[in-house]
Amino acid sequence: MASILLGCSHAQHLSLEGSNKAKIIIIQPFDDFEPELLPGLKQQLSNLFRAEVIINKNKSLPQALADKFGGKFPADSLLRLLEKEQTGRVVEVIGLTHKEIFIPKLLGGSSIPAIHPVRGYGYIAEGICIVSDHSLTSLDPRQTEARLVKATLHEVGHNIGLAHCSSPGCIMLEQSGDIVVLDKIAGSFCKQCKTQAN
Ligand SMILES: [Zn+2]
Ligand SMILES: [Zn+2]
Repeated sequence: MASILLGCSHAQHLSLEGSNKAKIIIIQPFDDFEPELLPGLKQQLSNLFRAEVIINKNKSLPQALADKFGGKFPADSLLRLLEKEQTGRVVEVIGLTHKEIFIPKLLGGSSIPAIHPVRGYGYIAEGICIVSDHSLTSLDPRQTEARLVKATLHEVGHNIGLAHCSSPGCIMLEQSGDIVVLDKIAGSFCKQCKTQAN
């Protein structure tokens, strides 16, 4: 999922092929998100971007945010929470939660937004994203971890300026929201996306 933020002025961002040596990626787990789920993601991010990856201590999500939405958290509010971590050399902040997250969507004819569940959410070129593994868990923990990595890289892809891509197997496929597609794709950016992100 992606939204285009107009007038974005965040100057620094990760680059896929250039040097990110002085840049920091923060992983912010929320509530009871288990640290055991994180080493694979940390490794993938540092392999891909060669930036410093820091895993923050878990923080609690403000339950009040979800109270009016049946326990689901509005993804954009979570991005605003994560924004506070973007200081100094931190160019990317990734929030991780087990809770359900959603974006409000106005459906034709209605003035009351409907709750549209999403697995991840990040603005184009803004350096903050939130990923929920609520619908990613598998009986095989390795599969759960692989899905989490792919879903996160997709959102980070939006953060570094990529829109959805139609190359088969690319992590930026819009259809990767479908778990069957997510399991099939390799989990990397296609050539075209790599060029575009630099
Ligand atoms: Zn997307
Ligand atoms: Zn692509």
